[in-house]
Amino acid sequence: MNEKAYFAPLLPWQQSLWQRMTNAALQQDGKLAHALLASGVEGIGKRAFVWRWVAWQLCDNKQNNSDGACGECESCQWLKAGTHPDLAVLPISSLLKSAESDKAVETVRKTNSKKSSKKNEAEKQVKPRIKIDDVRSIQDFVHQGSSNLRICVFDYAETMTIAAANALLKTLEEPKSGVQLILISDKPDMLLPTIKSRVQQLALTEINQSHAIDYVKQRLTQSGHKDAESMTKVSYDDEKIKQLLIISANAPLKAVSMAQSKWYGMRELWLTTWQALRSHSRTPVIASDYWQSQLSINEFIELSQVMLADVQRLVFDLPAYQQDIDYSSILQSLPEMQRCIDLCEYIQTAIQSLTQNIQEKLIYDDMMQRLRNL
Ligand SMILES: [Zn+2]
Repeated sequence: MNEKAYFAPLLPWQQSLWQRMTNAALQQDGKLAHALLASGVEGIGKRAFVWRWVAWQLCDNKQNNSDGACGECESCQWLKAGTHPDLAVLPISSLLKSAESDKAVETVRKTNSKKSSKKNEAEKQVKPRIKIDDVRSIQDFVHQGSSNLRICVFDYAETMTIAAANALLKTLEEPKSGVQLILISDKPDMLLPTIKSRVQQLALTEINQSHAIDYVKQRLTQSGHKDAESMTKVSYDDEKIKQLLIISANAPLKAVSMAQSKWYGMRELWLTTWQALRSHSRTPVIASDYWQSQLSINEFIELSQVMLADVQRLVFDLPAYQQDIDYSSILQSLPEMQRCIDLCEYIQTAIQSLTQNIQEKLIYDDMMQRLRNL
């Protein structure tokens, strides 16, 4: 396990939540909330907060240091070694993956960007899922007698099967003292209401805008030095950063990764391709081949979603979110609203099928066909 996930600096917009939680934990001493939910869109730093919180709660020196885990005591050493006896993480395979994604967030793409994005793609496609056997496997852990606090983290909680969710529900209904369950979810709407009603939601989506802007600016300025090739001639003023935050649903980590992605620099080109497809000056096959040589299908889908969000705003006669894109060429020939909605629905289906090993090329070809007909 990447130790940085446990000992990384607190994200600036999480300061007050951290203080509230550590104060409550120190005052109540042993009467901690039985179950917590860290939820919100991807890129707000849910996992960063949870790993930090886990490390601090288990730390032997937490009474003396509410800033975070000490990094020195026996508990912190166990965390560093990835063998803490009082911590269980489900799904089992997520331990490595969260460490990887935290690492990706922290190292600001020191490595070859194409290589690392391919790797991330591969990880996305084998998203782990919490199954009934996973929940059963922690029953002994949850019920064992021990004077120590024990923590169980359910990452990607929305991926739980119904059977797994029911097994978890039993555990939630019979709280065991000394045990804390922490659920993490990018899509809390997919959690069973009966589960949601039994967990205390962490206020992770309260993000102070000036904290977010400062953070994104700082991260992007840093990376400008480290990765000159992909960041050339791009300067980030407040307006550009505000735009990034708007299109990332106000998720600062997501805003940073968008700005650093290859597709973000290809937004104008997406518009050109779409217009060329509609006017039949380019065939879907040729467009598909070209884009496949540039972006993975997941990157192209992310790009298309951002662009289609603006197209829909223009259809509704609202100003586009992306003020740095010239939409004048499409204003005279905006598509029908229903067609935009249909395409967005298709994209959701495509995202689903990509998790089931459907060939990227098929989706790419289909997307181009549908863009032509939009
Ligand atoms: Zn410690």
